[in-house]
Amino acid sequence: MGPFPKYLTFRNVLVGMFSIWAIGIILKLAWWWYLLVFMVALTISYLGTTQIGSNFHMPAFCNLANCKNKVIAITFDDGVSKPEQSEKVLDILKQYNIPATFFCIGKNLVDETQIKVLKRIDTEGHIIGNHSYSHSAFYDFYSSNKIEKDTLKTDRLIEQYTGKKPLFYRPPYGITTPNIAKAINRIGHKTIGWSLRSLDTVIKDPNTLINRIKHKLKNGDILLFHDHVSYMPAFLPLFLEYILKEGYMIIGVDELLDLRPYEQLHSASL
Ligand SMILES: [Zn+2]
Repeated sequence: MGPFPKYLTFRNVLVGMFSIWAIGIILKLAWWWYLLVFMVALTISYLGTTQIGSNFHMPAFCNLANCKNKVIAITFDDGVSKPEQSEKVLDILKQYNIPATFFCIGKNLVDETQIKVLKRIDTEGHIIGNHSYSHSAFYDFYSSNKIEKDTLKTDRLIEQYTGKKPLFYRPPYGITTPNIAKAINRIGHKTIGWSLRSLDTVIKDPNTLINRIKHKLKNGDILLFHDHVSYMPAFLPLFLEYILKEGYMIIGVDELLDLRPYEQLHSASL
């Protein structure tokens, strides 16, 4: 789903619903009229909350629109949950000389092997983004203060191990809420979504996954994968061979969107 029209914001949907209800009271309309208006508002809000590309609650960069060139970017979420899997993915990216962006979860940046992989992601030229600290199932019910703290905790870990302060943020499950919007706006991070969700955690077979992507891939797409998926090391070479054969070029999300991925830290040597 693409972005909603600009006027279709959460606030406007609420204002619209109450206004139409008020008109209903004046016109003495039947009870089902209110229910109908409520169901429409609920459906719009549900879509806006679950579809990161809708820009309903907050702006998110999900692709490069009207892109004339055959360029795409790839992203991996939920690292570093299985370090040995991530290492295999990094080996393949290195072999093909392909840049990627890894949206890492703070609570997965704790033990030595996880930290080693995080550093490797950075030194091999990939980008590290913030994918929350907790990735909690209740994240969408957190207050904006709690989300802010949660996000900053992961920022600090990434900075501690790489010396770089991330500016890219991707909300857990790609769900956005007014509280997430408030928190991320305060921190000043850029929200990076996707335009092609591979469904690699649902589809169990590399060939099915390739076929799905073949049907959907467009210029300027940002693809969503997970490095912890068990068949990722088998899938990735198939995917990259296809991409190269079709003449696509994979570039970094930063280059595709022309956005800075890290805060510029003041150098003491200046
Ligand atoms: Zn995730």
